[in-house]
Amino acid sequence: MIIENLFQQKKPALSFEIFPPKKEAELKNIDATLSTLAKLEPDFISVTFGAGGSSANNRTVELAKKIKKEYGIEPLVHLTCISYSREEIKGILEELQKAELWNVLALRGDRNPDIPPKDDFRYADELVAFIKEQGDFHVSGACYPEVHTEAPDGITDIRNLKRKVDAGVGHLVSQLFFDNDNFYDFLVKLKIAGIDVPVEAGIMPVTNRAQIKRMVDMCGAVLPKKFEKILEKYGDHKEALFDAGMAYAVNQIVELIAQGVDGIHIFTMNNPVVAGRICEGIRNLVNVKRDSKETG
Ligand code: FAD
Repeated sequence: MIIENLFQQKKPALSFEIFPPKKEAELKNIDATLSTLAKLEPDFISVTFGAGGSSANNRTVELAKKIKKEYGIEPLVHLTCISYSREEIKGILEELQKAELWNVLALRGDRNPDIPPKDDFRYADELVAFIKEQGDFHVSGACYPEVHTEAPDGITDIRNLKRKVDAGVGHLVSQLFFDNDNFYDFLVKLKIAGIDVPVEAGIMPVTNRAQIKRMVDMCGAVLPKKFEKILEKYGDHKEALFDAGMAYAVNQIVELIAQGVDGIHIFTMNNPVVAGRICEGIRNLVNVKRDSKETG
């Protein structure tokens, strides 16, 4: 399946993001998560990629192969470039080609003080162009409704995004956000800039207070007033905050779908209960199947 073509047949699309477990043994446990996610019938599952290290140490490709072979779901393979040489990226792409994994999310990767950047790729648009030269890949990219943390302003960020799309990106997945209005404004700016590829809305269901703090620190997500109220009231009550976080994410998604967004991409954090709760709330909006026993 070519992910960028999916949106012509289905809108909204539904996708999940998972990360490869760090330890070999944990790769076996991922089956419990995958079998629950599979029952929710996502259109594809994306698999994150580490910031550095050798491709042999990276379990992304292994997990993507598993998703395709054992679960019959199309994987979207994340690939970061800032800490890799052209030769290393070429090696990973050859591995993908052999496994017939043609959908790649091309990313620069976050700067990491412990992993020095290599000189071959400075920005994701350079990776996009390189991937396109290497074979028949379909390339997706990341976008930032509330502006990337390193960008001087929103307009520059969108100009850079246009460069990435012009280099060959056919589908965008957004950074998480909690304020839908910021996403709608962003979509209008994309149209004005002539960016007309499908854009999926990235939704992070909040499960605890520490996670929200991490999100705000890491990606500068804006917390709307109504979200702050939820934190004020339920911040010290784990279970109540979990329920409120799930309800908030479902509300966000319902509104986004009503506005006609191209797709919803749920950052599952490998937690099938979270994915199940969200899908339970939206199943008739995106045709996902109900399985109350599995989804808790
Ligand atoms: P770019 O598109 O290169 O943009 C980075 C910054 O550089 C922006 O400020 C942009 O405005 C600017 N810029 C871009 N092009 C140019 C140019 N040509 N000239 C000057 N400035 C430019 N990280 C991981 O390590 N692994 C993952 O699996 C992963 N998955 C992600 C999935 C999603 C959906 C998202 C939104 C992010 C993900 N990230 C992941 C994080 C991502 O790597 C970081 O946000 C990173 O800081 C930027 O990556 P990018 O590909 O968007 O970079």
